[in-house]
Amino acid sequence: MAAGRLTVVATPIGNLDDISPRAIEALRGVDVIACEDTRHTGRLLAHVGIRGPKLVSVRDANEARMAHEIVKLLRDGKNVALVSDAGTPAVSDPGYKVVAAATGALVEVTTVPGPSAALAALTISGLPTARFVFEGFMPRKGGERTRRLAALATERRTIILYEAPHRLLVTLADLETACSGERVVAVARELTKLHEEVWRGQLKHAVAAVGEPRGEYVIVLGGALPTEPPDDDEIVDALVAHQAAGEDRKSAVAAVAGELGVPRRRVYALSVSSREHDEQT
Ligand code: SAM
Repeated sequence: MAAGRLTVVATPIGNLDDISPRAIEALRGVDVIACEDTRHTGRLLAHVGIRGPKLVSVRDANEARMAHEIVKLLRDGKNVALVSDAGTPAVSDPGYKVVAAATGALVEVTTVPGPSAALAALTISGLPTARFVFEGFMPRKGGERTRRLAALATERRTIILYEAPHRLLVTLADLETACSGERVVAVARELTKLHEEVWRGQLKHAVAAVGEPRGEYVIVLGGALPTEPPDDDEIVDALVAHQAAGEDRKSAVAAVAGELGVPRRRVYALSVSSREHDEQT
């Protein structure tokens, strides 16, 4: 018997209308839907008129065992969809172990991509998007938290963090202490929902500006500025990275000038001279 297929399906992060036609089709077509909270996913399915598939609960606590169960189902020819309560499964949500078990068993794994709070926040933060890191939730305390904060202090890429509302202010305050109050931050709240808003400013003003946290939040923190002006090699490396990502020279020059805080004409001159050098060698 042919094995079934595992489909990782993203679901809305607040606004139910964000469910895609492909997500509905994928969820309607499977035998089993692995989800976190069966009642929560049941409500989403009812919203889009899906009744057939069996729901099984996969949570952090049972994910390792459920990964084996799901592989058994897939080997028995069942098609399985994996969702989480909101957004993209396996992104600060259960899913990674299920996918790893399925790929390990050489079962086909496919995706129906869609909402994720991390990318939604990043793309409206106004912070550089060319290079970024996703940190998920910060460790809550102890040496692990201190080490992570220290690493963020020198991180040059834009940083995306999730945080629970009751921990938002303490995390913003700790980021200010670790990274300096001058760093730029965007605090995105209740994305896609009625009370969606984004506060943008310097870390030193964030706690007062955000006020009493209500709802769900993503913190998008600007990267650390270079402590010394970049040398020519760093500028050329950054240009190469942007062009390797498919940008034309004009866009790459503009992006690198913004990111490294150097005049555009210097970046342009280096892009011309490095190209001439490449052509001669
Ligand atoms: N897998 C999900 C995703 O792809 O976005 C994330 C799940 S994680 C358990 C939940 C966290 O995501 C929340 O604590 C919050 O930081 C962020 N989040 C989820 N939905 C959000 C929304 N509508 N607005 C802002 N942040 C959100």
